[in-house]
Amino acid sequence: MQFKDIIGQVNIKSKLIKTVKDNRISHAQLFVGPQGSGKLAMAIAFAQYINCKNRTEVDSCGECSSCKKYEKFIHPDLHFVFPVIKNGSIKPVSDSYLQNWRDKLTDNPYFTYNSWLISLGTENKQAQIYSDESNEIIKKLNFKTYEAEYKAMIIWLPEKMNISASNKLLKILEEPPEKTLFILVSDDYNKIITTIISRTQLIRFNKIDDESLKIALQNRYKDLSYEQITDAVNLSQGNYFQAIEQIETSENRKENFEYFIKLMRLAYQRNIIDLTELVDDIHKLGRERQKNLLIYMNNIIRENFIINIRNNQKIILNSDERIFSEKFSKFINYKNIEDLHNEINLAFSHIERNGNAKIIFMDFAIKLIYILRK
Ligand SMILES: [Zn+2]
Repeated sequence: MQFKDIIGQVNIKSKLIKTVKDNRISHAQLFVGPQGSGKLAMAIAFAQYINCKNRTEVDSCGECSSCKKYEKFIHPDLHFVFPVIKNGSIKPVSDSYLQNWRDKLTDNPYFTYNSWLISLGTENKQAQIYSDESNEIIKKLNFKTYEAEYKAMIIWLPEKMNISASNKLLKILEEPPEKTLFILVSDDYNKIITTIISRTQLIRFNKIDDESLKIALQNRYKDLSYEQITDAVNLSQGNYFQAIEQIETSENRKENFEYFIKLMRLAYQRNIIDLTELVDDIHKLGRERQKNLLIYMNNIIRENFIINIRNNQKIILNSDERIFSEKFSKFINYKNIEDLHNEINLAFSHIERNGNAKIIFMDFAIKLIYILRK
């Protein structure tokens, strides 16, 4: 990972490069900021830069023996710690899942915690950094460096450490081994224990700026139109990973939008016959798509409420949805927003518990008839 591969975040790049130039690299750094802003990618690029044998004023070379191993995330002095799950007899430490991790990084280093859970084969369990991990960290720190000037220990989501792991890490940070760089990469600063925060140098990331995100997406998706790219930028709020998901699931989104319009229109007209037919169609979608549709409905309703109360927040809708919402938003107000969200969430949990989709969606449609007239 080179700095040139990082989207936007120009100020942070130059700040980090300057610390190398001035020989003031702080041994423990905490990268904090929103998901999908590139913190993990930057951490790797920074460690690669420090260890590059031919680094320039602006970037690592990408070609020396160190860079080559860094590019594949297999450098022997590059260590990763990340949340894992407990799964049978597999030891709950990062090294047990190192192959998944490297694959994930190779695919897209902007991935989010939820997408990491999916890679671990679980969506419903929570992943953690368990106390076994601290023993692994200590073991790795005791090895002498193989090849590099600096050993790098990148800890992704330190907020997922359990308390005993946090305390052990704190001890290590209090007496840091020489020539070791710790980079903690966090989505949620408030959940890290303050004693750890006080031992680190804080680097704050902002979301990726729209212009840089637009260029990155244009480079990745050369066949998309200007509108499609702009929509993805607007919908993803500076989160590169989400922007990609947005584009790659835009067919689903379009279909969800169509279902949503029909459902609202028919409920408003109290057209039970056509509603029954629509529910039949939704029934055929399958459970995951039905859940996805309900999440979509929650989101679009929230955005319409925001439009209605003329809140200045940025609206997260694509261009077709915006046009529709100009008129529709007047139906979503203080009197019905809570009922709408509650009913959607209820339907969602029934679908999750394998309820009959036909009954669940019909029930929802009938309640909608009343709620929309509030
Ligand atoms: Zn190099």
